[in-house]
Parts: sequence; structure tokens; C-alpha cells
Amino acid sequence: MGLEKIWVFGEGNGESVASITLEMLAKARELADTVEVFMAGDGDDYAEELGDHGAAAVHATGDLDGAMQGVAVASAVASAIDGGEVESPDVFFLGTTQDGRDVAARLSVKLDAPVITNVVDVEVDGDAVIGNEPIFGGTVDVKTKNTSGKPGIFLIRPKSFTAESVGGAEADVEDLDVPDLGDAGGAKVTATFAEESDGPKLDEADIVVSGGRGLGEKDAYAMIVDLAKSLGGAAGASRAIVDAGWVPYSQQVGQTGKVVKPTVYIAAGISGATQHLVGMKGSKHIIAINKDPEAPIFAVADLGIIGDVHKVLPKLIEALDR
Ligand SMILES: Cc1cc2nc3c(=O)[nH]c(=O)nc-3n(C[C@H](O)[C@H](O)[C@H](O)COP(=O)(O)OP(=O)(O)OC[C@H]3O[C@@H](n4cnc5c(N)ncnc54)[C@H](O)[C@@H]3O)c2cc1C
Repeated sequence: MGLEKIWVFGEGNGESVASITLEMLAKARELADTVEVFMAGDGDDYAEELGDHGAAAVHATGDLDGAMQGVAVASAVASAIDGGEVESPDVFFLGTTQDGRDVAARLSVKLDAPVITNVVDVEVDGDAVIGNEPIFGGTVDVKTKNTSGKPGIFLIRPKSFTAESVGGAEADVEDLDVPDLGDAGGAKVTATFAEESDGPKLDEADIVVSGGRGLGEKDAYAMIVDLAKSLGGAAGASRAIVDAGWVPYSQQVGQTGKVVKPTVYIAAGISGATQHLVGMKGSKHIIAINKDPEAPIFAVADLGIIGDVHKVLPKLIEALDR
């Protein structure tokens, strides 16, 4: 038996919808008759793209005047449901993002409903909705069932599902009124900074080239950037070189960094620790360059190059730029 309605937390940059939102819409469509989005900001900015991905409606708060999304969106949803202005969905999906986590935690308190975190798949079994969470570096799956009788709040990991346009009509835009937030609304966002990048975003790129400690020194990371540029991809990193201060945390791939799922992932001088693998093993084709033939990364690689990154990477860049 399918579900009647799922609400997906929408995120966007004012122009386009975030990939995680579109990924969750794809899964929600599989499980429920009706899929709607709830979000901060102006719903009109996103209604066409959300409709194209199968959302029937977008419940949007409008401009929050700097209020934190977590407080405002959770309060608005709870008050709309409690006041009977909207019918509660069976399930909420939110992305495991800064704002997604904040909204989920506050919504849980306001609705007295459980949060199931770190979910990479969702199943419906009769009336029960079950979240699937991999633990111990993806070696064990934990299935968690919502038995509360309240709508389950599922925090979904990015790249768990594939976004897909279904050519739906523009979503209806509905107002989600934000009630008086009291002192909880006292924190204000005063400035936001967009990271500068002239290539695709790491977690949305079709090709990712990542470097690790095997590069030997910070300056050698320029080879990773060059190769990524030549391929039209994004540059990533292992935690070892993020911790060493060679590259910013925003480029870290893995359990405590970004999850990527590109068509091609190139790991250069990366050993293949489980915490790195959980962030990239869903890639379609994995190419590893490592001088140690026993390096664990070769166990997940489709193509392995046993060699020194200082010899292999310049040759690759030269061949591509020719
Ligand atoms: C709670 C927790 C969370 C973590 N989260 C993450 C995470 O999100 N992402 C992540 O990446 N790690 C994470 N880690 C760290 C992880 O366990 C590893 O320590 C880390 O991934 C190792 O990075 P590395 O492969 O670059 O370095 P190393 O393990 O030191 O490997 C370097 C590799 O380079 C090879 N090499 C050396 N010289 C050359 C050369 N000249 N040419 C070719 N190859 C060469 C070596 O053979 C070796 O295989 C986490 C750890 C913990 C405990």
C-alpha cells in the first residue's frame, strides 16, 4: 500500500532548486500519491522546476527577513497543521543539510514526531514507513521503522536517489504563514557568502578528481585542480589533506564531508579508508592512481593505475590539453 502524501523540504539559491530537493522528490513520487514541497522563501521562484519534478504544490513562507529557516519553517508547518489550514502529510523528507537538519529537529519537537536520520533509502510496509541507514562505513544496514502513529521525519543523505524530471505542470504556490517566533526567532542571518567557483559544484559534478596525502605536499594539489578543469569536473579531497590545511573543508569527500556520485571519480594518492569510500563509492566509474598495489582503493576501482601521482597526473593533463 502506498502513502497518501509526502512533504519534501525544499532548498534553493533563489533561482534554481537544490539537487537534494529534486532527488527526494523522485523517491517521494515512488511512494506517495501526492508530493508537495514546504520551504522558506518565495515559492514562485521554484514552482516551475518543482512541478516539473512532480510536486503538486509548494508551501512557502515568503521572505523571512533574516530569520533562521529552522525556527521559521518548523513553526509555520506546525502551526498550519495544528490550526487545520493544511492536512498533515504521512511523512516528511528533509535533506541532510545545514537547514534540513535544523528544520527536522525543531519540527520533531513541535509535532512530537520522531526523526530518523542518515537515511539512504525508504520503504513502505503496510502502514509502516522504514528508513534504511548504513553504518560502520556502509558494511551494516539498519532499518528503522516509525511506530509512533505520527508522521515520520526522515533526514535523507544527498545522492541517495536520482533526480528525474517528469514534465509535470507548475506547482501551485500556497502561503505558509510564519507565526510570532518569540525569543526563538531572535537569531538573524546578517550575511551570506557564496563560495566562488568557476566549475561545477563538487556534489553535483559529473566528473570529480580528488587528491590525498599521496600528493606529498600542498602545492601538488594544483595538479588535481588542473586535471579537474581539463575534464570539466570538480576537485575534491580526502580528509587527510583537509586536516593538513592544504584545501578547505568544503572539498572533503567522505563520511564527514560531501557525498558525491559522479559518472567518473578519480582518486589520486588516496588509500581508500572506509570513511572516504562511503562518500564516493556510489560513483559510476572509479579510477584510482596509487603507488601501492595493495591500497584498499583498488578494491572499489574499475580502473587502477599503479604509479606515482607526480608522473601519472602531469601525463594525463598533458594528454587532455593536447
Ligand atoms: C570519524 C572519522 C571520519 C572521517 N571522515 C573522513 C572523510 O569524510 N573523508 C576522508 O577522506 N577521510 C575521513 N576520515 C579519515 C580516514 O580514516 C583516512 O585517514 C583518510 O581518508 C586518509 O586520507 P588519504 O587516503 O589521503 O591518506 P593516506 O591514508 O595516508 O593514504 C595516502 C595514499 O597515497 C599513496 N601514495 C603515497 N605517495 C604516493 C605517490 N607519490 N603516488 C601515488 N600514491 C601515493 C599511499 O600508497 C596511500 O595509499 C575519517 C576518519 C574518522 C575517524
